[in-house]
Amino acid sequence: MSLAPKLNHHPYKSNFYSQMLKTFLPSLILLLLLSSTLISAAQNSGALSYQDSTWTKPTEPFRVAGDIYYVGSYDLACYLIVSAEGHALINTGLEESVSMIRKNVESLGFKFTDIKFLLTTQAHFDHVAGMAEIKKITGATMMANEADAKVLADGGKSDFAFGGKSGLFTPVTADRLLHDGDILKLGDTKLKVLHHPGHTKGATSFLVDTKDDKRSWKVLIANMPTMLSMTRISGMPSYPNIGKDFKYTLASMKKLDFDLWVASHASQFDLHDKRKPGDSYRPEAFNDRPSYDATINSLQLEYDKRLKSGQ
Ligand SMILES: [Zn+2]
Repeated sequence: MSLAPKLNHHPYKSNFYSQMLKTFLPSLILLLLLSSTLISAAQNSGALSYQDSTWTKPTEPFRVAGDIYYVGSYDLACYLIVSAEGHALINTGLEESVSMIRKNVESLGFKFTDIKFLLTTQAHFDHVAGMAEIKKITGATMMANEADAKVLADGGKSDFAFGGKSGLFTPVTADRLLHDGDILKLGDTKLKVLHHPGHTKGATSFLVDTKDDKRSWKVLIANMPTMLSMTRISGMPSYPNIGKDFKYTLASMKKLDFDLWVASHASQFDLHDKRKPGDSYRPEAFNDRPSYDATINSLQLEYDKRLKSGQ
């Protein structure tokens, strides 16, 4: 399948249609429905207020460890977990980055349409805005923590911090709800679902057991419990237990055991210091417990400060 230029809006429209025509019921009504969905998707992305240039800037995709690959933008991390039975994609970045993610997946030698499962670390638009479109292209099963399912399904309207009258991203419905401790198996790779609420109600980290031809790796794909400026630890109208959730998440993240760690944002684990474009496969680059502990400790200090000041 040919590739469209980077950062182009809906570059797959024609490919997508021809694929739909070949694969599914070629009814005119279906096409009309899809057209209106794609138009509303384009309108939705115009409604996003905050954007960072590193969110859409490309970066070289690479193999992190074993069957885990980085396929995201410069700062918005997306992880592809590959297997002979199909792949899983964790996070999508922004809606306009779908073509870039696809290009990244294909340049690593994998088929985008072999993505069978979609997952996310948190239901904020910078990690899920491309989810609806990728779900449409791949027909993959979307799985999300039960506490984030509603906000995904209403496109961010019910978000406790950013919510309001209009959606922030194209709504996407989870086909399966995940809970803390769930195990997902994909070929030789095992993902343990860790519910780390606070940043969003259903924020999730994944502890992934994977291996290469030398050894096995326990890789933490962490959703760091960062506190938004509008977050009130003392409780928020649509999230009264937010303080308790952050406390739980900070305590459980301190106890985690892993070999390597990465996170939802490249900046959170200093990706671009640890790996330069063209570097060969080196999982050890992400063996960095001290920076993980330092980050969690600074978040704990922030939490304590806000708690003390009644925020
Ligand atoms: Zn977020």
